[in-house]
Amino acid sequence: MAQTLYDVLVIGGGHAGAEAAHAAARMGARTALITLDRGKIGMMSCNPAIGGLAKGQLVKEIDALGGLMGRITDRAGIQFRQLNASKGPAVRSSRAQCDKLLYARTMQDVLSAVSGLDLLEGEVSELLFDEKTNKIQGVMLSGEPLHASSVVITSGTFLRAIMHTGDEKSTGGRVGERASTGLSPSIERLGFRLRRLKTGTPPRLHRRSIPWDQLPIQAGDPQPTPFSFFTETLNFPVLPQVPCHVTYTNEQTHQIIEANFGRSPMYRGDITGAGPRYCPSIEDKVKRFRDKERHQVFLEPEGLDVDEVYVNGISTSLPRDVQEAFVRSIVGLEKAEFIRYGYAVEYDAVDARQLKRTYESKDWGGLFFAGQVNGTSGYEEAAAQGLIAGINAAAKALDRDPFILQRDQAYMGVLADDLTLKGSDEPYRMFTSRAEFRLLLREDNADMRLSELGHQVGVLGDEDFRRFSDKKAKMERFSSHLKGYYFTPKAETLRRFEELGYNVQLKDRISAWELLKRPKVVLDEILSDLNFDETLEPAWRGAVETEARYEGYIKRDLELLERVRKSDAMKIPPTIDYAGIGGLSNEVKNRLLEARPETIGQASRLQGITPASIANLVIHLRMRERA
Ligand code: FAD
Repeated sequence: MAQTLYDVLVIGGGHAGAEAAHAAARMGARTALITLDRGKIGMMSCNPAIGGLAKGQLVKEIDALGGLMGRITDRAGIQFRQLNASKGPAVRSSRAQCDKLLYARTMQDVLSAVSGLDLLEGEVSELLFDEKTNKIQGVMLSGEPLHASSVVITSGTFLRAIMHTGDEKSTGGRVGERASTGLSPSIERLGFRLRRLKTGTPPRLHRRSIPWDQLPIQAGDPQPTPFSFFTETLNFPVLPQVPCHVTYTNEQTHQIIEANFGRSPMYRGDITGAGPRYCPSIEDKVKRFRDKERHQVFLEPEGLDVDEVYVNGISTSLPRDVQEAFVRSIVGLEKAEFIRYGYAVEYDAVDARQLKRTYESKDWGGLFFAGQVNGTSGYEEAAAQGLIAGINAAAKALDRDPFILQRDQAYMGVLADDLTLKGSDEPYRMFTSRAEFRLLLREDNADMRLSELGHQVGVLGDEDFRRFSDKKAKMERFSSHLKGYYFTPKAETLRRFEELGYNVQLKDRISAWELLKRPKVVLDEILSDLNFDETLEPAWRGAVETEARYEGYIKRDLELLERVRKSDAMKIPPTIDYAGIGGLSNEVKNRLLEARPETIGQASRLQGITPASIANLVIHLRMRERA
């Protein structure tokens, strides 16, 4: 029987699989991506948008490491917006509406051109493993074994997937696509705990059935900023930009939904899986927020040349007739024509606590999981895991060091730590509030945090790294210039500040860097006073301005970080016997046994683990070291 040897096999061509396969191949691992339908690689299963609060940070981090999501978004984006632009830098995020078909096509083109990467079609029905060594050996694809050193499972919403619309049920991971049935039992045989999760999507309406001129517009930024640090800004954006429109549900909409709760598969008990709390269905919103008079609905084009309009905010699995009735009760949608009805999908996800922060199984060497199958929701969370799993799968196959990002280095580190330590009972999505050091983990400095690492592991190419290094050097020159350029308390300077509306009382000279810490002072307004003879892109200037303005807070975070790092540095050996450690309650022992934290820092972040138990654990580890 023909046996092909790959270094890395990636199962799945969604957002996780695409990043994993790309990263592994870029690192020099001979890689194959196997997917149920090659034409669906990079498909956006739900909303045609990338980024959003905290998700934008993830995309920037993926990009900084050399991943694809940001670059492809720049080529397929039809509306770019900076969210929270008037708020603090830690919570500013980017979002882009995309042409969904173009996004998938671009992803397919990019992956097809990656050397060392094969794109295969078919269903992986089984995992091959060696019970003696506890190592994964490959997969069964269309009845043939395919051998590899590492396997990354990124099966998304496809494992034993069932779609629901009212009482209509069908098997399939996404509308028009089949489910994957064989893989779940094979994963269970390896001792993984599987759980049922669910997610849902709204109906798609025909654009000709909506009176656009009667609805308020939500436009993109007048001067769009690319997602990727490596996209040329000169001819950006590449595609025509289009607006979204806004409307609202109303009392009648809510009454129709409420009257039909009994026909909802969620409330009838047909769906048992937990859904995403932060992206609830309209049924959930009406039930949970009964006192709310209306819910906002965004009408988002799915592309430049497609008729489908995505109705953001009313994800539903109610029967078709109910969907028609409640949608048509919404202003502007009275004559809505349905192209596709909303549905919910239930699927198997693994308990990510059985994985290390590299996303490799704690028990099975060479087996990795990434994306929605780990209990997350969202393209960005999936892509972020895919990239890290792909890097580590290649590292394992090529006998290199594992690649782990810490919580203070990246949202990707927060994601890996949260998932593998605490798991998730419901689809997990990223928020800025999940990060302890969010002022350090800004969108604008993602490349400064990660691009050197991306280049070192081999995902970020030389040309991009050279551009990054040039940018870094230029920003450093600019920062030094700001620190060395002084305003003196001359009448002329005071007059200039007054003109600009700055209430700055100068007794002594002040550097431009320090001046930026004063309220209302804006870098671009004083730029012409500074005699800096190089030109910096606006986004680069913004990043320097943030570093200056928030320097005090950043320093405070860095000091705190030093203390946290010490506890995170202390490793807990996987062979530790919690039963033999004195002073730990049975409850604490059980929690530690279940989560198997890799460091003292991780152990201290577990629920129910007291400072006293941590102290006992540290004493035990120190004694072990000395023994
Ligand atoms: P997917 O994009 O699902 O890709 C899985 C891939 O695995 C596919 O290519 C499939 O062909 C392949 N595959 C699976 N099993 C096998 C096998 N045995 N052999 C070979 N290939 C296999 N996210 C949100 O953030 N908000 C939402 O509101 C939202 N709603 C959603 C609604 C629906 C109906 C669906 C389906 C998804 C929704 N999502 C939503 C989730 C979003 O689509 C996912 O987070 C994201 O696509 C996950 O990416 P992934 O790479 O993990 O998996």
